[in-house]
Amino acid sequence: LLGKGYVQLYTGNGKGKTTAALGLALRAAGNGLSVLFLQFMKGADDYGEIAGLALLGAKVRHVQTGRDVLIRKGEATEEDMRLAREGWARAERAIREKEADLVVLDEINCAVDFGLLPAGPVLAALASKPDGVEVVLTGRNAPGAFVEAADLVTEMREVKHYYAKGVSARAGIER
Ligand code: ATP
Ligand code: MG
Repeated sequence: LLGKGYVQLYTGNGKGKTTAALGLALRAAGNGLSVLFLQFMKGADDYGEIAGLALLGAKVRHVQTGRDVLIRKGEATEEDMRLAREGWARAERAIREKEADLVVLDEINCAVDFGLLPAGPVLAALASKPDGVEVVLTGRNAPGAFVEAADLVTEMREVKHYYAKGVSARAGIER
């Protein structure tokens, strides 16, 4: 359905990276495309997208990997690395076997930035991506090699964020 299929990358410090990927999933589903929305470093059960994506029907699948707590850079554990590698194995297979028209790898940039995953296998999978699959990579601090490899790169630039006023993630808006 998608012809060649491209690699999209959403990065930057401003709000909207995961939201944009969810919006694309919504649009893809509305066009009858299948979607695999795979989240790295997000194991908690209180993300609105879990139930939200389920509303889009059987062609949209959602997979979470990672522990159910936020981790900080430099504080990743062996368990975090193991879970990220499992997530990547799932993602790599999905791309190679064309499991879905749209494969979203949410926060994979952070997983690489945090040292949970090496960039090399991701770059190899993108380079040998079969036609017909659109891949979306999201997350802050995208590795330069990902920016280089992607066909579309959007940087969400923070002009203002209420996080600075002490407003943390709210159900329905940030999670
Ligand atoms: P969204 O999911 O709303 O589209 P995003 O994917 O662009 O956002 P992430 O980098 O994934 O943004 O950020 C996740 C969370 O980090 C946000 O829900 C927010 O509460 C928090 N956050 C936002 N800005 C900052 C900041 N400047 N420093 C630390 N944490 C922030
Ligand atoms: Mg995000």
